[in-house]
Amino acid sequence: MGFSTDAIHAGQIPDPTTGAVITPIYQTSTYAQDALGVNKGYEYGRTHNLTREALEKNIAALEKGKYGIAFASGLAAIQSILGLVKSGDHIIATENVYGGTYRLMELIFKDYGLEFSWVDTSNVVKIRKAVRPNTKLIYIETPTNPMLRLTDLRTVKGICKKYDLISVVDNTFMTPYFQKPLLFGIDVVLHSTTKYINGHSDVIGGIVITNNPKIHERIRYLQNAIGAVPSPFDCWLTLRATKTLAVRMKQHNENAKRIAKFLSENPKVKKVIYPGLRNHPHYSLAKRQMSGYGGMITADFGDLKSAKKVLNRVKVFTLGESLGGVESLISHPASMTHASIPKREREKLGITEGLIRFSVGIEDVEDLIADIEHALK
Ligand SMILES: *Cc1c(COP(=O)(O)O)cnc(C)c1O
Repeated sequence: MGFSTDAIHAGQIPDPTTGAVITPIYQTSTYAQDALGVNKGYEYGRTHNLTREALEKNIAALEKGKYGIAFASGLAAIQSILGLVKSGDHIIATENVYGGTYRLMELIFKDYGLEFSWVDTSNVVKIRKAVRPNTKLIYIETPTNPMLRLTDLRTVKGICKKYDLISVVDNTFMTPYFQKPLLFGIDVVLHSTTKYINGHSDVIGGIVITNNPKIHERIRYLQNAIGAVPSPFDCWLTLRATKTLAVRMKQHNENAKRIAKFLSENPKVKKVIYPGLRNHPHYSLAKRQMSGYGGMITADFGDLKSAKKVLNRVKVFTLGESLGGVESLISHPASMTHASIPKREREKLGITEGLIRFSVGIEDVEDLIADIEHALK
């Protein structure tokens, strides 16, 4: 089936009791058992919930995966993935990952004996050089946040095959509408569904998708054992949102392309980073492994003073963390999303004080452009 058909139908069957077309919110913590040791496959809400199962099947279908395992947040999903390795194991991770991912790995899991190497994974040579005898997993974000650097999925898959490593891709920025890492042979895909997948800025959630039965079994076990499960209502809201994922992503992409062009032509903007611009260092790779460029744009306005002017003067764009919602957001990575990364590390990654990140929404693009134009005057 096509993407939108799956988005609207996959994992969703009319309710067996009433025929309700929309999967009900099974707001229950426990289930009546027919007799001692006899039940309908549902015993306790942390372990089994039908609304959650519908969401898991739905998003797994969109990623072309067999199994989906949903979590209460993107970070809870990432924590479960760290449960695929053990103390003493080594992980190679993309150097400018989402700030919370860096914090979880470097400031929490390092204390539990995991080793991390932060590598520019857009460079194959650097990935190969980072492999150690105890390396078990490669964790990729492509495009990265907020520098929008890309990693070649085919290359990562090749290295993982050679050294018997698990490959993991955080696909939050592209969504399966524009990028399907499992089709490139990647083992595990994860999302902060908080962002584009839910898309309405009203749910915190995460999901892990895989085709590997062993990995599925382990993550499923951890979902129940750790217990960071999403509520039935949050699952239902997210299911409601995936139905329009395709139309939303198309519009995010259209609007972002127009705004990236507008910013590129403005002399007050020092640099514009968008994978759909020909001057992006990984433009040809973007064309190869993505079917669109998404709604995120990063631009350098030179210094903090100029950046502040834009951040404080826009009216249609809302100043705020997060991304991927239907409404446009604007943020200052150095002091907001990436504040937990030490200043020196930040600057090495190019996250300067003049940098602004735009999460382009699906409003009328003319209004968005006029808003930035006005702020720059
Ligand atoms: C937001 C985000 C996360 C963390 O997800 P939460 O739902 O906030 O826990 C992980 N990765 C990326 C790329 C994100 O944007």
